[in-house]
Formats: sequence, C-alpha cells, structure tokens
Amino acid sequence: MLRLTEIKLPLTHANPDGASHAEIEAAILKKLAIPPDELLGFSIFRRGVDARKSHAILLIYTVDIAVRDEKRILARFSKDAHVNLTPDTSYKFVAQAAADSTQARPVIIGFGPAGLFTALVLAQSGFKPLVLERGKAVRERTKDTWGLWRKSVLNPESNVQFGEGGAGTFSDGKLYSQIKDPKHYGRKVLQEFVKAGAPEEILYVSKPHIGTFRLVGMIERMRETIIALGGEIRFGSRVDDIEIEQQHGKGQVQAVVLATGERIPTQHLVLAVGHSARDTFEMIHKRGIYVEAKPFSVGFRIEHPQSLIDASRHGPFAQHPVLGAADYKLVHHASNGRSVYSFCMCPGGTVVAAASEPERVVTNGMSQYSRNERNANAGIVVGITPEQDYPGHPLAGIAYQRQWESRAYELGGRNYQAPGQLIGDFIAARPSTAFGSVQPSYTPGVHLTDLATSLPEFAISAIREALPAFARQIKGFDLPDGLLTGVETRTSSPIRIKRNDDDLQSLNTKGLFPAGEGAGYAGGILSAAVDGIRIAEAVALSLSGTPLTL
Ligand code: FAD
Repeated sequence: MLRLTEIKLPLTHANPDGASHAEIEAAILKKLAIPPDELLGFSIFRRGVDARKSHAILLIYTVDIAVRDEKRILARFSKDAHVNLTPDTSYKFVAQAAADSTQARPVIIGFGPAGLFTALVLAQSGFKPLVLERGKAVRERTKDTWGLWRKSVLNPESNVQFGEGGAGTFSDGKLYSQIKDPKHYGRKVLQEFVKAGAPEEILYVSKPHIGTFRLVGMIERMRETIIALGGEIRFGSRVDDIEIEQQHGKGQVQAVVLATGERIPTQHLVLAVGHSARDTFEMIHKRGIYVEAKPFSVGFRIEHPQSLIDASRHGPFAQHPVLGAADYKLVHHASNGRSVYSFCMCPGGTVVAAASEPERVVTNGMSQYSRNERNANAGIVVGITPEQDYPGHPLAGIAYQRQWESRAYELGGRNYQAPGQLIGDFIAARPSTAFGSVQPSYTPGVHLTDLATSLPEFAISAIREALPAFARQIKGFDLPDGLLTGVETRTSSPIRIKRNDDDLQSLNTKGLFPAGEGAGYAGGILSAAVDGIRIAEAVALSLSGTPLTL
C-alpha cells in the first residue's frame, strides 16, 4: 500500500459528505499520472480542512492506495514527500502474562482515560488489573453531576471530575492532541473507541469529537471488556494512603489503603488520579513521593452565538455539513508579558459547572455529538508559572486554584451560580446588570457582576487587552453582548509527579507509575489515554521482568 498526503479538493455546496469517491479517484490518478486500471483501490486515512480562506475552503485528504506497480511509482516519486509506503500503525503488545501467572495484580488508581487505557491494555496482555475509582459508575455519576447543574447540590465524590470515565466524560469529547506519537498509540485509542461504539469517522476526520452522551455508553462497554478479560473495577473506592517501604535509600510501594480502611497489597501501582485529586496530591506529598509545581493557566469561559463564529470562520460555507459548527484557536501576547489563549473550545455546546469541592466555582465546557446548541464557548486563559505566581511549595498551585475558585463562589452569590459579565462591560471595566442577546448556557445560573477581582490583576488586564485583538482574527469576537463566566482554573494539573524516562516509575518511589493528566504527563482525553498505554507497557514489562526499551 502507498500513502498519498495533501490531496487537496475544493469544498463545494454540492458535496455534503466531502468529496465524492470519483473526485478523490480522479485526484489520485492526476497526482500519480497513471491510467485508471493501474489504481486497484483506495481508502481515506484522514480528511482535514484548510479554512484559512473562508471563501475557498479546501478538503485535504490522506489516502492509502493499492496500485499495480508500487515499486515503479515509489521510484518515480522518490523525491516527493507526499508519496510513501503506508506505515504499519497496528498496535503491538510488548509483553504477555504467563498463563499460569500467580503474580499479584497491578493496581490502578483512577478510571479516567489514563487509568482506563492502562487497565485495558494490561487486561489485553493477560495481567488482570484491579482498578480503584473513588467515584460512581457512569450512569449513577451522571445523576450526581446533574444534581449540581440542576439543583445546586454538589457531591464531592461523584461529579464532573470524579467517577467512571474521568474528567472528560461530560465534555465535548474532542479526540485530538498535538503530542508526538511515533508508535501510533493514538490510533489504538481511536480504534478501541470505535469498537466501543464511537462513530467510524473518528478514525479519519482530522479533528474528531464524540460528545457527551456517546461517551457514557462507550465507557460502559470498555469496562465490560476489561472485566471479561479478568480485570476488576471497584467504584466508591477512594485510595487515602499508599504504604511505602524504604529500601536502599529509595521507596518501594507495598500497598494502598482505602477510605474504608481496607489494605490492598501491591508492588505495581498506577496513579492516574487526574488534576483535581487535591487530597490525593496532599497525601502523596506527605508520603515523600517526589512532586513539583508546574505551570497551568487561569481565566474565564467566553460565549458567543455559534452563528457568529461560523460566519467568521466559514463565510459562505457556514453550516456546511462537512464543516459542522466552527471552532477557533487564538493566542495573544499581552503587553504585560502574559500570554492569553483560547482553551478547550466547544462549538455548539454549553458552559458547565465543574467544581469538585464545596463552596467553590469552576467552569469548563461540553457539547453533544451534534454540536447544535446556540452558543460557542471556550476558555480564555492566561498562562501562569510557579516561579512567578505561586512560588515556594510544590502544592502552592492548588492553594492558588482554591483561592480563585472560592472567590468565584463568593462573587456568584454563594449558591453555585457562576459570576459573569458581558464582554462589552468587561472591556469597559463596568459591572454588568442585565443580559443582552446572548443567554448564558451555564447552570445552575450566571450572576452578573464585575469580574475585575475574580482573578489576579495581571490576568484581568491581559484578557482585557486580548479580546479586541482576537476580534481582528474573528470578526465580532468582542461582541458587547457576549458573555464571560468565571472561573476557569483547572486547565491542567498544578503539579508534576515526576517519573524516570526509562521505566516510567516515580523518581524516588519504585513500583509507582504516575500517569495521565494529574501526574502532569497529559492534557486532554487522547493524550491521557495514550499515556495510559505507555504506562500499561511499562507495568507489563516490569511485571514480566523484561528489560525496558520504550
Ligand atoms: P481524569 O479523567 O481526571 O481521571 C482521574 C480519575 O481518578 C477520576 O475518575 C477520579 O475520580 C479518580 N480518582 C482521583 N483520586 C482518586 C483516589 N484517591 N482514589 C480513587 N480514584 C481517584 N479533554 C479533551 O481532550 N477533549 C475535551 O473535549 C475535553 N473536555 C472536557 C470537559 C470537561 C467538563 C472537563 C472537566 C474536562 C475536559 N477535558 C477534555 C479534559 C480531559 O477530561 C482530561 O484531560 C482527561 O480526562 C484526563 O484524564 P486522566 O485519566 O488523566 O484523569
């Protein structure tokens, strides 16, 4: 098979599903200058969109083709970077448990994308993992999550952050990432998602997303697969302690202790707890596991009518079925030296209450697969660093997050409403008193106020400067009636639980494998899942005694 990249075809109103088979075939024949009978068949590997010119949007295809004389074509195009042999992207297991293995089970804390993929790959390799998840199974968890959104009742153990599926379960389900992935683990993740019920298109569209409702069913199916392979998943099982024995100046994990007091021995422990497990971070720091502070970002959610974003990004092709609801990605380097950027943009979605601690307010965004809600939303956030903004202690970033989340609770009226302000008022530095044409999507509700004291001054002034600058890229971005809702503080983990590059175990604690976003090694569903696979391999190799060559 050969892989051709950068096959460009114009988007037209006549092709609602993308270019037709005949159009793509004609483009392949033209590119290779071969007659039709030389091309035996082709399949689409990827379909991207180049919407930089909204009046002349291009579809960019990567196709895998079968031809009569592969060698001759490869030789003819040896200097063309867009004609190559199709790489082998199939997943290869690195180790297999012995059939009669009596080895202790590897234990995984957390059943978000990182823990889920660690468990899945370990189970597929025959290792029968035990997963301990503090939250509830996804259907029960959904009810608790709605409890905050509809009734202002927060369950600190079962919410948007905690429970089966992890933080991204109620999300836009964006499945792309900019991580380097030379071993094609991302492909394995997408293939497993498709097996579990995701639409096939996630395998080839360049910016796949699933949306919330589908994710719920998929996670249940993946749980069943792990159990069928001998794994076990225990919900309502919060790990409150890790027993570590000192051996030759280094720790070695010996067991975990649950909130119930139950002790579970293990020497292979995966810590995949996400970025919101603040009590767990405090516990591991107390136990002497090496942790350091890392940068993250803080800001607001912004809401515009989706039609405004569509018109600006897609011009005459706005609402075209191939394009769907338009997204954006924006960056502004402010005059005070801070960078402001858009984060986790959710086209046609809603702003959601994402708190996991009482009397704190945190925002995030989600959407359904159809992305057909009235508003577009995104985080507009400012980068912060431990050196500049929360120096002195590895966990100081958590205190910083808590400070602004508590302030948001206060400004919102102390009832889980979020503080909000109209974009026009925010830029003009005056409080808002009434909504305009844009209605907030956040439930339990937005309390209009002045956001000036909801974040540090440098963040407020940087965002104030950025919004008009963004309007030069997306017409109407500074729409006076658009909305800002505060605060966005959980953009990524405030800490890194550092691990060795070779065996992926904690710097100073053997048998502990920090994984995913909470450990500071991923940001987003796909990258957390990919990290989960890497960790599964490291655990499998460690358990089977094979030297590690990851
Ligand atoms: P998590 O998903 O956070 O999972 C950690 C799990 O560990 C949780 O289930 C938690 O309950 C459990 N846990 C924590 N402490 C303990 C303990 N002590 N004992 C037992 N269990 C414990 N990313 C995207 O790529 N695309 C999106 O569209 C997207 N949208 C998002 C929308 C929302 C509302 C949110 C909150 C996040 C979104 N994200 C999105 C981010 C994404 O969800 C995370 O990057 C991802 O889930 C991180 O995966 P993880 O497995 O590392 O951690």
